[in-house]
Amino acid sequence: MAYKTVNPFTNKEVKSFTSLTEQEVTAKIDQADACYKEWRKTDFATRRAVMKKAATIMRENKAKFASLVTLEMGKLISDAEGEVDLTADIFDYYADNAEEFLAPEILKPKDGRKAYVEHDSIGIILCVEPWNFPYYQLVRVAATNLMAGNVVMVKHASIVPQCAEAFEQLMLDAGAPKGAYTNLFVDSKHIAAIIHDRRIRGVAVTGSEKAGASVAGEAGKALKKSTMELGGSDAFIVLEDADLDKACKWGIWGRMNNTGQCCVAAKRFIVVESVADKLLKQLTECLSNLKAGDPMDRSTTLGPLSSEEAAKEIAELTATAIKHGAKAVVGGKRPDMPGAFMEATILTNITKENPVFYREFFGPVIMFFTVPDEKAAIALANDSEFGLGGTVFSNNIERAQKVASQIDTGMVFINRPTWTSPDLPFGGVKHSGYGRELSKEGIMEFVNRKLIYIENKG
Ligand code: NAP
Repeated sequence: MAYKTVNPFTNKEVKSFTSLTEQEVTAKIDQADACYKEWRKTDFATRRAVMKKAATIMRENKAKFASLVTLEMGKLISDAEGEVDLTADIFDYYADNAEEFLAPEILKPKDGRKAYVEHDSIGIILCVEPWNFPYYQLVRVAATNLMAGNVVMVKHASIVPQCAEAFEQLMLDAGAPKGAYTNLFVDSKHIAAIIHDRRIRGVAVTGSEKAGASVAGEAGKALKKSTMELGGSDAFIVLEDADLDKACKWGIWGRMNNTGQCCVAAKRFIVVESVADKLLKQLTECLSNLKAGDPMDRSTTLGPLSSEEAAKEIAELTATAIKHGAKAVVGGKRPDMPGAFMEATILTNITKENPVFYREFFGPVIMFFTVPDEKAAIALANDSEFGLGGTVFSNNIERAQKVASQIDTGMVFINRPTWTSPDLPFGGVKHSGYGRELSKEGIMEFVNRKLIYIENKG
């Protein structure tokens, strides 16, 4: 897709960008490769200084960074500011911890010889990233890899070009040499050729299953390590002994934040029947109070979707659900106003025969299921192609932990929706992908765990 900024609040085009030619891409890979040869030799202090500076610049220019996010993909301005803070925290986290994470691991072989595993850089990592968190998605791959001595080349989503450029400029302003972080304005159809360049040593994707399958396939053919952070349809299980006020408050946040466009959003509410009617009523009331409007206006509580396309897609999926027997308890269609808006919606009566049953609703739509008991809740939660995050609400923590252990996902949060923090591993199983980002695990994905063995005894 062509790179352009279209404000989803007005659906007006603001700015367009030219994609790189094949020769320009090659020149950028040459530059990244030359940079890698030097960057891999730098010490941790040098890399740490760049991360720290990037964190400081982001915090000092929060308003500028945040307003670009809101302009390009419609995130509420206060949430965009939150994203800038989180991004800066991730820079800091790897600046402070990478050296310890990457320290050699001493082994104790049976033969009494000395052996250890060191964690070396591997080269250029190609990253394909989505628009829903335009900086946070980038720092997850940039801070880890740059601290590990790799360099990164990033194809950002075509609807957030100004955020993509702002992040590249941030890295340069923070003191990263040219080629350490490269923004690539390329069409996704050219990604395969880049993957096959012998200097690309790893590939990281965050995005849809479709993009993941396509890129993972090419990476496989080229025998390159890949990580896949893909879609999700997280269960939000509410047991009969849950605090319903908290479940409602967190449920609304978990589903509606970022206008429902989070991979780990609470997409399927699975509620035990003895409390289902009460919770449904509470959720309906809360959703009816959301105020759609300009995401730059701090009184707005429901922003537009990221694009007109995205709004059309979620409205069509909702219409399909209704056509096949689902009931919209609240919302269900696009509101009568300009911009990429969709009503906050709750769908009940979704049967397994409904074609939307296994689909990911990437927008402000709750799928609400009522189940007889805990066992049925676990079975329904696991009846999904996805396996990203999930939630269990119960005042009995031991019980909630037992339920959490039976959910087939990469993350389960108890008494709050799945969320992210620099020091918590993030990723999924099944069609939600493989590999982890953030925490120590994230920095280990693209390093050479190299064994050094010393024959001499002593
Ligand atoms: P998308 O269409 O897959 O786009 C993501 C990125 O992949 C964009 O840069 C896009 O470029 C590129 N892309 C698309 N098709 C491609 C292909 N065939 N080859 C190479 N690159 C390709 O995803 P989206 O709809 O924008 O984002 C939402 C999805 O991402 C949801 O499924 C969400 O759950 C998932 N997600 C997952 C995580 C996680 O950590 N697990 C985090 C956030 C989002 P263009 O923009 O140029 O099309």
